[in-house]
Amino acid sequence: MTASILDSSFKEEPYWWEAFRPQAIEAPSLPGRTDVVVVGGGYAGLATARALADGGVKSVVLEAEEFGSGASTRSGGGISAGLSIGKSFAGKSLDYAPELVRDVVGWAVEAYRGLFDLVEKENIDCHLEQHGRFLGACAVSHYDGLRARFDKLRAGGATDCYLVSREEQRQEIGSDFYHGGMVLETAGKLHPALFYGGLLAAARRRNSITLAGHCRATGLARSGDGWRVTTGAGDIEARHVVIATNGYTSGLTPQLQRRLVPIASHIIATEELPADLVQKLCPKGRTFSETRRVLHYYRISPDGRRVIFGGRARFTEIPGELRARLLHRAMVERFPELADTKVTHTWQGNVAFTYDALPHAGEIDGLHFILGCNGSGVSMMPFLGDAMGKSIAGKLHGRMPFADTALPAIPLYSGNPWFLPAIGGAFRALDYIDEKIR
Ligand SMILES: Cc1cc2nc3c(=O)[nH]c(=O)nc-3n(C[C@H](O)[C@H](O)[C@H](O)COP(=O)(O)OP(=O)(O)OC[C@H]3O[C@@H](n4cnc5c(N)ncnc54)[C@H](O)[C@@H]3O)c2cc1C
Repeated sequence: MTASILDSSFKEEPYWWEAFRPQAIEAPSLPGRTDVVVVGGGYAGLATARALADGGVKSVVLEAEEFGSGASTRSGGGISAGLSIGKSFAGKSLDYAPELVRDVVGWAVEAYRGLFDLVEKENIDCHLEQHGRFLGACAVSHYDGLRARFDKLRAGGATDCYLVSREEQRQEIGSDFYHGGMVLETAGKLHPALFYGGLLAAARRRNSITLAGHCRATGLARSGDGWRVTTGAGDIEARHVVIATNGYTSGLTPQLQRRLVPIASHIIATEELPADLVQKLCPKGRTFSETRRVLHYYRISPDGRRVIFGGRARFTEIPGELRARLLHRAMVERFPELADTKVTHTWQGNVAFTYDALPHAGEIDGLHFILGCNGSGVSMMPFLGDAMGKSIAGKLHGRMPFADTALPAIPLYSGNPWFLPAIGGAFRALDYIDEKIR
């Protein structure tokens, strides 16, 4: 059964790496002193270093693995200006003060526009396009929930979303799986690894940035009015440290680790499909997401030939063949005509959830941080990195986004998410009850 869905070329690595592979950039030697050490070389870390450089500030970016091995080259590449904000990992929409909703929607729109600006300024060829997103309601009650969310988004200033009834939904997606949904026009997609490669190239063009791959930060200690950062390649003294480790945050920063729940997200890519079938499944080039607690998200590849289908097949890492089987089954539930379609690639990566379901950037114990993408970071994490770099360089006009909203502690949690398999099972059961019983 499993063997039959795997293509003969099946690989356990991101489809995106066919176009850009993570790079082992090792600094010949680390400087003993710099202005800012950035820990983590994903979108957030690189965007921070870029903004620092443009503000005349030197930095060293430490990356524990190869540059690009974290979530930033593994995502679905879907981007939106706010639709996913405020959704907890339990799938619940949280209640925020109206002022916060307004701020968050504003930042999400800025992040989205900022991504287009960044791609243009750095001349990054990453198939960035805006064709909107369809958010499918997995149960009748979820459609009512979407209506309430729609009202809130409108009240928060969003003007480009509309509800789609079940009868109309085939105009958006070639599937009868959903009970209607919502379209957000200000949403799009890109090739996440090519975008990352462009950001990495932009960092390499700036002489004041030192990139140090395979160089894990293993210790942080106060030193004068700055920090001493310990790595396997020696210590670095810096006035500031920025933690940009998101779903890979470790005991290096226990005060941050216990505020984040790392959750694995999983994806498959299919073999190439006939153009008319792709057109039927995805008539408007939208990205797709849904209202379940344990949701799936999917899209067509930039060449218009494959389905890239993701979800939290489990909340933790699982073997590739199991992942491929679970995601293939979910894909066929939505698109029965793909029952015989083979899987060519599967991969996984970590995202980081916060207790209030918001991303955060700010300062804790004198350390700067950009963390908590809550599963949607392709536009938000570079935006926060850019703002953080400008803020440290004294070049930020206006408020640092999210800086006035403290990154909340998670009750009874010390940073070890031992409960995730149980929670994943419970959420799947609740989804089942919503869809089949209520
Ligand atoms: C499967 C999947 C699908 C996704 N789909 C989408 C999507 O469609 N749309 C969307 O908006 N978002 C999506 N995301 C989320 C998005 O990819 C992330 O929000 C974003 O890439 C986070 O960027 P980052 O720079 O914060 O973290 P990362 O890119 O994860 O970078 C963090 C880096 O820190 C490094 N690190 C950790 N500890 C240390 C240390 N001690 N020293 C040095 N380095 C360290 C890690 O090696 C890692 O490379 C998805 C994520 C995954 C995994």
